[in-house]
Amino acid sequence: MEVIVKCPSCNAALPVNASEKPNEIACGSCQKLIALTITPAVATDTSVDTCPMCTGKDFYIRKDFDPKIGLAFVILGATVSAVFYYFGMDLTAYGVLAVAVLVDLAVYRRLGDVTICYRCQAEFRGHFKQMAESFDLHTADVLEAEYAKQAGR
Ligand SMILES: [Zn+2]
Ligand SMILES: [Zn+2]
Repeated sequence: MEVIVKCPSCNAALPVNASEKPNEIACGSCQKLIALTITPAVATDTSVDTCPMCTGKDFYIRKDFDPKIGLAFVILGATVSAVFYYFGMDLTAYGVLAVAVLVDLAVYRRLGDVTICYRCQAEFRGHFKQMAESFDLHTADVLEAEYAKQAGR
């Protein structure tokens, strides 16, 4: 599976190929060495049992979707639609808007799930069975605070 860990010192997103089982990686932007604990399950793309970055065992699932892209598309649709509307082409305007929303939904549906570590926000993508539950704000608050303490921030 592909793991994306966040550098604890500069917050850069660092891709890690878990099948290579690296013990540590160097951050590409600040050169900090980051120790990784990759379990056999993670290395073989079977399941995410332990986070390689923080060794936490609490994860959640969300759709692998960048909300900014979805929003940009809807805004683009609305803008084009407004232009048609301005020129009195009401039906075309509504049509463009409807298509924009439909494309947005279609893209959203086709996307897979991504598993995310509550503590360090590491992301896990692969063919493993996504077992984590959906996001819970209370759990996130507790675990993020715990991780921040542990990291000494
Ligand atoms: Zn860094
Ligand atoms: Zn983690």
